[in-house]
Amino acid sequence: MKKFITKLSSEFKLPTDAVGQRLLKEYGALFVACGGAIPPPMVIFKSEAEVSAFQNGLQQSKEKIGGFDVELQAAAMKNLQDAISEAEQNSLTITPRGADSAKRDYTGTVELWASRVNPGLTNYIGKGKLTAAEAAKIRALSPFEQVPEIFKLESQGMFFSKDLSKSIIYSVAPPGTSQHLSMLALDVSEHENSKVRDVLARHGWFQTVVSDLPHFTFLGVSENQLSGLGLKKVNDGGRTFWLPSL
Ligand SMILES: [Zn+2]
Repeated sequence: MKKFITKLSSEFKLPTDAVGQRLLKEYGALFVACGGAIPPPMVIFKSEAEVSAFQNGLQQSKEKIGGFDVELQAAAMKNLQDAISEAEQNSLTITPRGADSAKRDYTGTVELWASRVNPGLTNYIGKGKLTAAEAAKIRALSPFEQVPEIFKLESQGMFFSKDLSKSIIYSVAPPGTSQHLSMLALDVSEHENSKVRDVLARHGWFQTVVSDLPHFTFLGVSENQLSGLGLKKVNDGGRTFWLPSL
């Protein structure tokens, strides 16, 4: 068995469907987070009720950072604050990109998903790649049911990232799958500064979603322990990302 699988909590529900397995591969580093972090027990939350049940069971912490309210799991917040102090000593800052940079709710992830799917469908109708009827059928599905349909269109070359050049999953997370729902993720304004990325990494915050550049995930260990969690290093565009070795 792959080391990564053995590092998942015993309560974790391993996905058996293609969509779930792909999401585990792309977003799954989070599920082996430790150091006081509690990862979700499944790849996809199916409703607001499931998200709030999980979030309500967490030890949460709320701080004003860079003018925004930031809500994270307590262990993630403590390490973020340590990183911010270390950054300050080196005349650097670490601030959230906006009001939705940390905790999100299910509805928020549904809205973000729709903000890519709807213009994408309109574009592909305009290009004659999709009929209005096919698009209407997808729009009528629940956000959860839309995911495999969008992946199917992407396998035919119709991509749904903001600039339509790559998969939607590198642009927004499918509904109920965002790492922000787990309160272990933060979108950082200063992500382009490699010194800032190094400071964050020293405090357990790593990049785990390839090509989601502002996005950091609290994994709760030091860099030399990540391979022991079954994660592999992926270099992309001059950056280091940590993904499940599956
Ligand atoms: Zn993010």
